Amino acid sequence: MSLPDRVQAQLPGVLADLRELVAIESVSADSARAAEVERSAERIVDLLMDLRCPDVRVIRVKDEAPAVIGRFPAPEGKPTVCLYAHHDVQPEGDRAAWRTPPFRATELDGRLFGRGTADDKGGFAVHLAALRAFDGKPPVGVTVFVEGEEEIGSPTLTQLLEEHHNYLAADVFVIADSVNWAVGQPAFTTSLRGVGECIVEVRTLDHGLHSGVYGGVAPDALTALCRLLATLHDDQGNVAVAGLATAPAPELEYPPDRLREESGILDGVDWIGSGSIVERLWCKPAISVIALDAPPVARASNTLIPTARAKISLRVAPGDDASRALAALIKHLEDHVPWGAQLTVVAGETGEPSVVDFTGPYAEAARAAFSQAWGVAPVFIGQGGTIPMVGDFGKVFPDATILVTAVGDPDSRAHGANESLHLGDFAAACLAETLMLDAFGRLDLEDG
Ligand SMILES: [Zn+2]
Repeated sequence: MSLPDRVQAQLPGVLADLRELVAIESVSADSARAAEVERSAERIVDLLMDLRCPDVRVIRVKDEAPAVIGRFPAPEGKPTVCLYAHHDVQPEGDRAAWRTPPFRATELDGRLFGRGTADDKGGFAVHLAALRAFDGKPPVGVTVFVEGEEEIGSPTLTQLLEEHHNYLAADVFVIADSVNWAVGQPAFTTSLRGVGECIVEVRTLDHGLHSGVYGGVAPDALTALCRLLATLHDDQGNVAVAGLATAPAPELEYPPDRLREESGILDGVDWIGSGSIVERLWCKPAISVIALDAPPVARASNTLIPTARAKISLRVAPGDDASRALAALIKHLEDHVPWGAQLTVVAGETGEPSVVDFTGPYAEAARAAFSQAWGVAPVFIGQGGTIPMVGDFGKVFPDATILVTAVGDPDSRAHGANESLHLGDFAAACLAETLMLDAFGRLDLEDG
């Protein structure tokens, strides 16, 4: 049987296993469902054992969420490929917003709906399909690595990678956790923005004052804060903080209609910033005010507000340094606070941006395999969001080739209600990964 036929033959079984995985409510952010995260790890162990994987283990840091590793040793002279996915999922959110029950995988209009179908139990299912197509005897060494805490920011991943460094070491890491360019068109993600945040507090008075008696001479903290926040952008909406980097943008047109549809921007509202859409989405910094502490309107009185706080989210361009960028934002706030108001800024978490180098024999073989499987060439994209673990892998294994692939498409609604997986794309992704492993097995590495 040809390789494409073998993959095709595996799809019904793999989809049945994916449905079972979706039924497990492995929400890592919900401590009440920790047993479900354990259960999904156990189910993955069983699926790897069924493939007669000779070395399956569960690893974790202390009592943190379990990651599963399954190792298929490399045939003599062949490279090792680590296939990454995660088995934890985002909370389902408001169940009423779902058209189908979130934890019962349901097929509708060529898509499989359910939490985790695309992010990222579908990613694991692709790895499963490829391994089954080779009947558990892949032509290269394969280490399947299925994390259990990606959706809470992979708090112990760096430690796991370091503690199990030799065990996880590979020539290629395939991280199946991004988004394809469109239904029917695959993508490799080659850049990711970083993230940082801070809380800024402005104080002008030691207690609230009558706004009639003192208004016009004593500054209120909320107005001072609003004026400060307004300095973060120019009139066009470009970030106006000095010292933040911008990365070179790919020549790729993001269809404006698609952006309108995906974002739900209201009629008459302008886009902000300048440059091409992909430059603004993937390559430039962005700043948003994401929360404000001030009296609610319903309890307003005619008082000059003494203290006000805001939380600011910063997106950092690929190639920039997240801590340095956050320091530049904090300096801007300190330099621009109006009226001599007192200011405290507390720096929050940062996540580093990534630039993924897509060169070398593995990358070229992957590109060819994806073109063949999908019948169309892959697109190289960035992501505006942050996948910190891409940087973690790069840091711990600097010589490895990293390929960031996907099963989801822009309609997959990862993290939202009605998450779904396009079944045609899923089949293509399974074939692409299988052809890619086959191609890696044929590479003449002596030349390289
Ligand atoms: Zn994910």
